[in-house]
Amino acid sequence: MRAENNSVVSFHYSVRDAADAAAEPYDDSRKRGEPLLALLGHSQLVPGVEKALAGRETGDKFEIDVAPEDAYGERQEGLLQRVPKKYFQNAQKLKPGMTTVLQTKDGGQRMVTIHKVGMSAIDVDHNHPLAGKTLHFDIEIVDVRAAAPEEIAHGHAHPGGHAHG
Ligand code: ZN
Repeated sequence: MRAENNSVVSFHYSVRDAADAAAEPYDDSRKRGEPLLALLGHSQLVPGVEKALAGRETGDKFEIDVAPEDAYGERQEGLLQRVPKKYFQNAQKLKPGMTTVLQTKDGGQRMVTIHKVGMSAIDVDHNHPLAGKTLHFDIEIVDVRAAAPEEIAHGHAHPGGHAHG
């Protein structure tokens, strides 16, 4: 079957900076060993990838470039924040350009990019690390199936279509 809204698509992908063909991939599902499983039409993927998967079927291989507005958005100014080092678990290892997870006041976690490391505080950038970048995706469709009613109700795919415990 061809992928459409409410299809569950399993696919391998790698993604790198489109401006640099020799760049290390930011992410590579084969290195992680498992294809990604996604329910189409439920905003599980960046819009550019979601659009590109529509109409594909098992075995399709293709490459796409996705502009920032269809990926992680443009970089926004004003998202820098100065945070005391005590809030970082690994402050002494952090360098500009690295990403790390910061605990938020409400007990959640946020991925941030290190902008500048000072004596007692670190300036972090709350932009997504891939904001402002055109991304090059290499995609191979492993499987396409219709979603189970429960997956549609939950808004995400379940491995093998089975409910989670
Ligand atoms: Zn679920």
